[in-house]
Amino acid sequence: MEVVKITPRGYCHGVVDAIKIARKLGAEAGSEAVPQPIHMLGYLVHNEHVTDELKEDGVDLIDEDDRFAGLQQIDEGTVIFTAHGVSPQVKQQAEAMGLQAVDATCSDVVRTHDLVKDLAARDFHIFYIGQRKHPEPEGVIGEAPDRVHLLEPLDFEALDHVEFPTQKIAVTCQTTLSQWDTISTIEEIQRRWPHVEVYNEICKATQERQEAAVAAAAEVDMVIVVGSSRSSNSKRLVQVVEELGHKPAHLVDSPADIDNTWFEGVDRVGVTSGASTPTWMTRKVIEHLEKLGAGDLVAAE
Ligand code: SF4
Repeated sequence: MEVVKITPRGYCHGVVDAIKIARKLGAEAGSEAVPQPIHMLGYLVHNEHVTDELKEDGVDLIDEDDRFAGLQQIDEGTVIFTAHGVSPQVKQQAEAMGLQAVDATCSDVVRTHDLVKDLAARDFHIFYIGQRKHPEPEGVIGEAPDRVHLLEPLDFEALDHVEFPTQKIAVTCQTTLSQWDTISTIEEIQRRWPHVEVYNEICKATQERQEAAVAAAAEVDMVIVVGSSRSSNSKRLVQVVEELGHKPAHLVDSPADIDNTWFEGVDRVGVTSGASTPTWMTRKVIEHLEKLGAGDLVAAE
């Protein structure tokens, strides 16, 4: 069995920057600028291996359903806002509690916050295509809660119940969705509100990884996506390979998740990984698959 390494894959700039910020804080823990304890308010990036490494660096995880509930678990010290961003209300609350706040929001997510703020200030109502209960929509919606309408991708039925008091309507989206589902959803909104202003905010890293995975699917029999089941962009890679590449795809967090029966009749397997997956873990999965391939060849002789 041949293992095809799909590129680009793995860490994006937002994840690299967030990890750098958290590691630096861990190294400076206890200084005047970084009071202890240090907490990340939710998963800094959606990957358990990264989270475990950060805990070793002295950065603890607060894992609650939303960021306000998370803040209630913190009495003192430093709080890190994760790469997914937080609402202005959460920032204000952290400040009121006297916490030292450090913002590790990805610059691409910050751009969506700024966009929504600007549109709301210009009297727009905004469709925000995103996933319910994901931290990124929670943060962006907080910029203008009475003007942003969360819409799950492809939930056209929900559009039947929307009425706006103004002609000023815009649509934007979470950075890590399937770009194809997002475009279909935007097109449906345009069909119903032809004057809508469109701001597609799927980030470049998500786009490039999805396009590479779909293109590679044409050349392989199956794709393995290395990533966490918490990770939106990792799950979207599985989805786009299955729906657009028309090939089976499996999400694995580590080699332990790999089931050898998947590979019956598979000559070529593609490997990609989500934007929050550490390179060392992708390498481990690739090595495991290469050994598996070699073993199969020996067995076949
Ligand atoms: S996936 Fe995109 S938006 Fe999310 S951290 Fe990476 S670059 Fe930023």
